[in-house]
Amino acid sequence: MEHEGRSAAWPGVIEAYRRYLPVDASTPVVTMNEGRTPLIAAPRLAEVVFGEGRVPRLYLKFEGLNPTGSFKDRGMTMAVSKAVEAGAKGVVCASTGNTSASAAAYAARAGLACLVIIPKGAVASGKLAQALIYGARVLAVEGNFDVALDLVRGLVARHPEITLVNSINPYRLEGQKTAAFEVCDQLGRAPDYLAIPVGNAGNISAYWQGFKEYAAAGQGGAKRPAAGAWPLMLGFQAEGAAPFIAGSFVDKPKTLATAIRIGHPASWDRARRAVNESGGRFTAITDDEIVIAYRLLARLEGVFVEPASAAPVAGLAKLTRDGYFAERGVGPETAVVCVLTGNGLKDPNRARRVSVAPEVVPADLDLVEDRAFGREAGS
Ligand SMILES: *Cc1c(COP(=O)(O)O)cnc(C)c1O
Repeated sequence: MEHEGRSAAWPGVIEAYRRYLPVDASTPVVTMNEGRTPLIAAPRLAEVVFGEGRVPRLYLKFEGLNPTGSFKDRGMTMAVSKAVEAGAKGVVCASTGNTSASAAAYAARAGLACLVIIPKGAVASGKLAQALIYGARVLAVEGNFDVALDLVRGLVARHPEITLVNSINPYRLEGQKTAAFEVCDQLGRAPDYLAIPVGNAGNISAYWQGFKEYAAAGQGGAKRPAAGAWPLMLGFQAEGAAPFIAGSFVDKPKTLATAIRIGHPASWDRARRAVNESGGRFTAITDDEIVIAYRLLARLEGVFVEPASAAPVAGLAKLTRDGYFAERGVGPETAVVCVLTGNGLKDPNRARRVSVAPEVVPADLDLVEDRAFGREAGS
């Protein structure tokens, strides 16, 4: 364990896990002290998700508390540091929103230009606001994320002086694997199951790499030699954007969870390997199930995430209904970690749309009391 407890001097993921990363003394570290996000025990949510039987311990790795509000910061500190080291003039990415927010912030900090290509009308308002205020040049194209990523690949082929910082940039996944290290450090061992949403499939690949590297280094597995040193990887996709469940690419992905509205995942082989090698599985859930999980997370645990991040919670409930965990004999000694990838404030419109709007009441004590405690009080 590199850093015990919550140190005020947490230096960000590159310094914390330097010996596992492709950096050396001459790499200029561009950091906003990302990482060290909390691993939150969620017993109330666990009761609802896993039912009345033998309920495992459920933990939420809240990646929405990174500097720009998503796990993308772990990869971006690496990608931008290496871009600066290589003498890049700027960075470019295609984005469903969070990559652009993170790229724009780290580029600003490094004094690099940032260009972002987004699918028009398909990025949550908070994320777009971030890219703009951090000073990125934002171009919205007619087409989905997969189209935007193709355009970005074309741009960097013509302009080698700018660095592509999507997750096909290998340094992104190197940075993102540190989340697996943290989970092991915080839990004192590797979890039994890791539940995670899957879009472009970089993150599930990065976690798997992280668990394997940490085990190889003698970390994260010491307390459960019989069970192995890594978790089963459970990847979740929305039904309308579920290429891994279909077994082939999807041309018109549809889901309200915009961060995972991706039909041609770039890390296809790596993600399939992660799931197969670990003995896990991919599972699809509906948008309705995602919304139910989204509200439950907030109401039962006080954790507000964006819709894509609720997908694994919805997925754990679905696997429970299907008898998946009962078959495997999970119980209170089982640790399930659910990765909550992004902050709820990224997509405030969605939260309002699935909630009861505030009632307008005259500023009168009797009327306010009536509305608050009377028959007409809202749910
Ligand atoms: C990027 C992102 C995902 C998907 O991660 P991939 O690495 O593309 O699979 C999921 N949730 C949120 C909030 C994201 O920003």
